[in-house]
Amino acid sequence: MSNYQLHGDVAVISMNNPPMNTMSHGNRGFVKAALDAANADASVKAIVLTGAGKVFSSGAEIKEFNTPAAIADPNLRDVIKALEDSPKPVVAAVHGVAMGGGLELAMGCHYRVASPGALIALPEVKLGVLPGAGGTQRLPRLIGVEKALDMIVSGNPVKSEKFAAGTLFEQIVEGDLIAAAVKLAGEMASASAKSGAPYKRVRDISIAAPGATFFADARTATAKAQRGYPAPVKCVDAVEASTSMEFEAGCTYERECFMELVATNESKAMRHYFFGERTVAKIPDVPDDTPLRPIKSAAVIGAGTMGGGITMNFINAGIPVTMLEMKQEALDKGLAIIRKNYENTAKKGRMTMEEVEQRMALITPVLSYDALKNADIVVEAVFEDMAVKEAVFKQLDAVMKPGAILASNTSTLDVNKIASFTQRPQDVIGTHFFSPANVMRLLEVVRGEKTAKDVLATTMKLSKTIKKIGVVSGVCDGFIGNRMIEQYSRQAGFLLEEGASPEQVDKAIEKIGFAMGPFRMGDLAGNDVGWYIRKRRYVEKPNVRYSKTADLICEQGRFGQKTSAGWYDYKAGDRTPYPSPVVQAILEQHRKDLGITPRQISDGEIVERLMYALVNEGALIVEEGIAMRAVDIDMIYMSGYGVPPFLGGPMFFADRKGLKNVVASMEKFAANKNADPGFWKPAPLLARLAAEGKTFN
Ligand code: NAD
Repeated sequence: MSNYQLHGDVAVISMNNPPMNTMSHGNRGFVKAALDAANADASVKAIVLTGAGKVFSSGAEIKEFNTPAAIADPNLRDVIKALEDSPKPVVAAVHGVAMGGGLELAMGCHYRVASPGALIALPEVKLGVLPGAGGTQRLPRLIGVEKALDMIVSGNPVKSEKFAAGTLFEQIVEGDLIAAAVKLAGEMASASAKSGAPYKRVRDISIAAPGATFFADARTATAKAQRGYPAPVKCVDAVEASTSMEFEAGCTYERECFMELVATNESKAMRHYFFGERTVAKIPDVPDDTPLRPIKSAAVIGAGTMGGGITMNFINAGIPVTMLEMKQEALDKGLAIIRKNYENTAKKGRMTMEEVEQRMALITPVLSYDALKNADIVVEAVFEDMAVKEAVFKQLDAVMKPGAILASNTSTLDVNKIASFTQRPQDVIGTHFFSPANVMRLLEVVRGEKTAKDVLATTMKLSKTIKKIGVVSGVCDGFIGNRMIEQYSRQAGFLLEEGASPEQVDKAIEKIGFAMGPFRMGDLAGNDVGWYIRKRRYVEKPNVRYSKTADLICEQGRFGQKTSAGWYDYKAGDRTPYPSPVVQAILEQHRKDLGITPRQISDGEIVERLMYALVNEGALIVEEGIAMRAVDIDMIYMSGYGVPPFLGGPMFFADRKGLKNVVASMEKFAANKNADPGFWKPAPLLARLAAEGKTFN
């Protein structure tokens, strides 16, 4: 994996650990050995360190986190120290990406040059940690405290040319980077030989301390903006140490912060998210090299809430869309909403009016199916009614070109049945977008019994193209996300019957990080949606018990924000939920009718009951093969249901609690005299893993 070449009297060390040149144990060993070799070779005057392939280095090998390889000799700090102490000058030639440990490595070199466009970042905070190899101490010395703090707390990349006027890079090199680095290294060696002056070490740069309240203010602002995430505030502490401590002491302090953070549940959860995003794309029986169908154009049926958002996804990715409706008015209305969305973005300065027109020009509104026939994919987003879907899919089957993908955005209907309306069920798939479809990152990709592998692979690839997190679900009522949320909502209803208020339930689950509790969510989505589904359930599954509380609310027309009344009261033009005396009275009467004496329920019990309702259904879903893995469920909840990455999703939450403890709590809840005894029967997979002392993930 190594590359060591002599360019005259300059040794060029190229890290070669494709694709990202991560600082794995092997790569660290290579750099150290190559450096030693260069220093031992009398014919070498100076050294250049770079990365083979397209990048310098993306930093730590995350797979090594919490494994012996992460700290095995030489560790990254030792390699950086060796670079810094090198008797021969070392120039880092940065291109493509220098992030995290990669940037720390470059900052250990005496000089740096970069190609324009290279992405420079210390993104560790995104994995719930902070730079652990001197990054928080060296970056402020190079670019100043304020800029460094911003980069370290946000983790966001900055393009190399933005540092053109600073001390991070000696030069931004438009042409041959290695040639420029070799030239600079040689010059520095000659200059030092003449003057006897030592090479520049970043650690020796003195640092300008900011204003007296700078760090206190930064800590307050960061804690507020990053609630629930422990790493960002620690980043502030560590950068402050660069100004208040000697370099070595600052590094030791940074290390302590790193070790503390890496062991936190939040950081473990964020790494679970990081790997989850990569894992969900892998489908065991669909090889990575499955040939894909080209997607250069799309069609969308229905210009309503979802059709409009779905259309925006495609055109944002430059894929033209033919949009079909039944009537001209519906088309006009749909187009006007899309335009307004873009114009609002333009008003916020995030897009130009010219771009708005360019996007709108990618939509062709039509009223006839014939106009769709050449699209590579068609997504149906018409009314949620099987008869309507049947009519649409029969027409699509008749007109679409062979090989076109026929997708349905149904949220509850049987995708296999929809496929059966066509002569080409292998081309039919579910694409379950979440509302607002142009914003929400989750896309459940519903694999029908007969969906062809290349159709699945193409749709998963497409999800990336349109910047979604695509997660495969099998066919079942509600697919993965909504099937689980139904159990969560049922449990939320039982909590009300036993004595909790909607605001107590919402606050308890929001306190652990959920964006919104079940009742605020109901008010936002419309309580009538659930009411409609329950009415169907009462007929289809008369044995399943639901709390009647939600029906009582709906019977009063309290559908949520849209009726200014739901679980909460709302004032006109204001989305703030106010506790409702009407709802309180309904609940009190209902408890009386059921003969329940209300009791004080702790927040801890609320959280466990809601979370384990999700977990138990999740376990069934994994066992049935509807979800490929527990991590797929976690990704669905983190990308579509407002569960923050620092919680890691419901299955990760259960793993963290210990599945034995989860089962024990479920047994306790089942013994509650008001509980539905069937509800808390542990799913076989959960029971088995708990008994074996294992985890879902
Ligand atoms: P909507 O009522 O806002 O829009 C449906 C549109 O389809 C209307 O504009 C209607 O005129 C049009 N339409 C109906 N029949 C048609 C036909 N035969 N040909 C052409 N156009 C037709 O509904 P929506 O909320 O956008 O939902 C659409 C689909 O998306 C449904 O299957 C729904 O279950 C699903 N879905 C909705 C949400 C959500 O939150 N709204 C979320 C996920 C999935």
